[in-house]
Amino acid sequence: KRRIAVMTSGGDAPGMNGAVRAVVRMSIAKGCEAYAIYEGYDGLVKGGDMIKEMKWTDVRGYLGEGGTLIGTARCAAFFERPGRLQAAKNMVLKGIDALVICGGDGSLTGADKFRAEWPGLLEELVKNGELSAEQISPFKHLNIVGLVGSIDNDMSSTDATIGCYSSLGRICESVDYIDATAFSHQRAFVIEVMGRHCGWLALMAGVSCGADFIFIPEKPPSENWRQEMAKIIGKHRKLGKRKTIVIVAEGAHDLNLEKITPAMVKDVLCNDLHLDTRITTLGHVQRGGQACAYDRMLSTLQGAEAVNAVLEATPDTPSPVISIIENKIVRKPLLEAVKLTQQVTEAIKAKDFERAMHLRDAE
Ligand code: ADP
Repeated sequence: KRRIAVMTSGGDAPGMNGAVRAVVRMSIAKGCEAYAIYEGYDGLVKGGDMIKEMKWTDVRGYLGEGGTLIGTARCAAFFERPGRLQAAKNMVLKGIDALVICGGDGSLTGADKFRAEWPGLLEELVKNGELSAEQISPFKHLNIVGLVGSIDNDMSSTDATIGCYSSLGRICESVDYIDATAFSHQRAFVIEVMGRHCGWLALMAGVSCGADFIFIPEKPPSENWRQEMAKIIGKHRKLGKRKTIVIVAEGAHDLNLEKITPAMVKDVLCNDLHLDTRITTLGHVQRGGQACAYDRMLSTLQGAEAVNAVLEATPDTPSPVISIIENKIVRKPLLEAVKLTQQVTEAIKAKDFERAMHLRDAE
């Protein structure tokens, strides 16, 4: 029986458990054996008990659970060849030659590198006397399939990453709570949201909560953003608005790439507009909690498709990442998706913000 392993890696995101459940159950339904690798690449490098067979009932209750129940980690050893050599040995010892990995662009890059090195790693293991030629002979190729798990929605080539809508929902709920108290006291709130280099959460939260002003990395405000913001918010207040909400992405900066902090925004609201202003950093509540319906659906459909992609893979097929584009679950070349994503960050660094916006939407 073919053995397919699933792993979660990088930052956790709601919906990752749904992906694990789907991969495990689809693998079993297709006549394969399913394995889970615990604690991301750490577990792959350590092997032994960290790689466990998963039966149908082992993933009972996984669908809506937040975080990742099989654990995740950042693993320094996997960046180095000796770590990947050990990982390859552990996989062969467990009889696994297909790995579905749910993580961000870093995790997926590492996985594709592992695949490219795989034949060389196995040869080296035989040469070192760690494995025999018979042991490696059934495992000529490694299949890698990526699923993008991230609350940031920062991957090009897909409309949504697993976790982003749960996080957006959590942000909206939190801003609603703040709204009530802001309205009561006629206060202003500057709310910092996550997203690393990506402004999707801040932008969508701004739209969904009717924020007065937002700051995102892909579209920095003009040099005189202080006056501009004061003018807009002053107008809103004159129109009778009792509360002010400004959303700042954690990666927000100005045209010169100088960081824009919630404290800088607060200064303007206090000093120029004389508003009683508070800062709220939402922090890790944005990452936790149950997965929303969309993420349960996305992780289930994509997890099932990942198993299909494993079973249909040939040695010449580039590793795919499972995406959703215009509501269709599709396979895209993993390396190209990662490259496009990295180009967004490069465009921002080069202050080519128009290109950054364009690349974010690239398919
Ligand atoms: P994310 O997957 O969320 O982008 P990271 O970039 O932290 O998170 O990557 C998670 C883990 O994936 C790293 O700790 C490392 O073990 C592995 N990894 C990331 N990039 C590479 C790479 N270029 N080569 C090998 N392993 C990598």
